[in-house]
Amino acid sequence: MPQWTNWSGSVAASPRWVEQPDSESAIQDMVRRAGSAAAAVRVVGTGHSFTPLAATDGLLLSLDRWSGLEQVDAGAQTATVRAGTKLHALGDLLFDAGLAMPNLGDVDVQSIAGAVSTGTHGTGRSLGNVATQVIGLRLVTASGEVVAWDEPHHPDHLHAARVSLGMLGVFSTLTLQLVPAYRLLEQVWQEPVAETQDRLAARIAENVRYEFFWFPESDTTECKTLNPTDLPAEPSAADLVMGTPAGPLAAVRSPATRRRTGWSARVIPSIRSRLFNEMEYAVPAERGPACFAAVRDRMRRYHPDVRWPVEYRTLAADDSWLSPAYARETVTISIHQDARLPYADFFADIERIFVEAEGRPHWGKVHTRTAADLEMLYPRWHDFLRLHADLDPAGRFLNPHLRSVFGIG
Ligand SMILES: Cc1cc2nc3c(=O)[nH]c(=O)nc-3n(C[C@H](O)[C@H](O)[C@H](O)COP(=O)(O)OP(=O)(O)OC[C@H]3O[C@@H](n4cnc5c(N)ncnc54)[C@H](O)[C@@H]3O)c2cc1C
Repeated sequence: MPQWTNWSGSVAASPRWVEQPDSESAIQDMVRRAGSAAAAVRVVGTGHSFTPLAATDGLLLSLDRWSGLEQVDAGAQTATVRAGTKLHALGDLLFDAGLAMPNLGDVDVQSIAGAVSTGTHGTGRSLGNVATQVIGLRLVTASGEVVAWDEPHHPDHLHAARVSLGMLGVFSTLTLQLVPAYRLLEQVWQEPVAETQDRLAARIAENVRYEFFWFPESDTTECKTLNPTDLPAEPSAADLVMGTPAGPLAAVRSPATRRRTGWSARVIPSIRSRLFNEMEYAVPAERGPACFAAVRDRMRRYHPDVRWPVEYRTLAADDSWLSPAYARETVTISIHQDARLPYADFFADIERIFVEAEGRPHWGKVHTRTAADLEMLYPRWHDFLRLHADLDPAGRFLNPHLRSVFGIG
């Protein structure tokens, strides 16, 4: 039996089959064959989720061979992309067409379908998660049929399907609303945490993208801004130059600020080579500062051995039914632990603070929430469950994790 593990090694599975379809009709055939064998089906993107979303003892579908662009409309700034396309490859393809995604998360190794399905996001108070870019999609359902939903004709179905964890079927293609290719000026600097806390609201307001990491060992932060620029893309000038920490036009200059410019798809993503596990919650934006303060306080008192940082980002409200940013301006706060070290007790302790702040967990990151907790946090929860029951009455696209999280027996 093939063995499968996720990126951090925290989730393992033994699927009966692993298949790599290279066309929409091949996806349909495989879903139908799994149905005939009464086997479960899960799709995997890059396996970068920390939760057992892709784990199955049935058919594991990887769309790595179903990638690339189907169609680009430069005038409308849209592109239809095959679901297995990795974000870094997509960035290059879109750049060649003069286009770019409005925002990206911290890394660009995920598949577009995986990033969309979990509500993967970057930072920026006015910028939605990756799923908000989806204005149309084609989905292979449990019967092997293809449904095509788009914003003008099927807004409800589209908003249900964007963040749907592979529960409604297999995305074949996704149509994205894009923007003209743009360059960004990135600035990164370190400072005492008190300064970060004092200037938090102003920096979020003054910068298109702002985030910080708090390092518990030193009690200092690393702050980052990313703002549009007309400066030429100069990766070589990634180098230490005098920068402007507080905003694009701020006058304060610090010799410790690193500055670089470049095209968005190159500058936004980082490379994360050290394996870790992560928990992240989306809390109402106004509760972000107090929630961070409580996490910091708790870590300093009770988890002094944890050296991995806490990340603080902002995210615009959206209309995807299961998006952690559904209908509310959001701050996301995440905690990390080295993949070689135990994390369950530390995460569970901090999770209490996130829950108290009405947090919604990132679907792809460690959490212990189940249906009883989650249904109160998502106004369209039961609508989603009804749609799931209509499309997948036999629960073909479920696994034990999803059954527990969604309360489906
Ligand atoms: C190093 C690292 C950095 C990260 N940075 C961020 C970040 O900055 N922001 C953030 O929000 N998250 C972040 N994450 C989490 C990550 O973006 C999500 O877990 C994302 O879903 C992973 O994408 P993937 O392609 O690996 O999908 P997988 O983890 O393989 O799958 C995720 C979900 O997508 C579904 N899926 C995949 N393909 C399809 C398809 N074709 N049709 C239907 N469903 C499908 C799967 O069934 C599963 O439910 C990070 C994770 C890691 C490990």
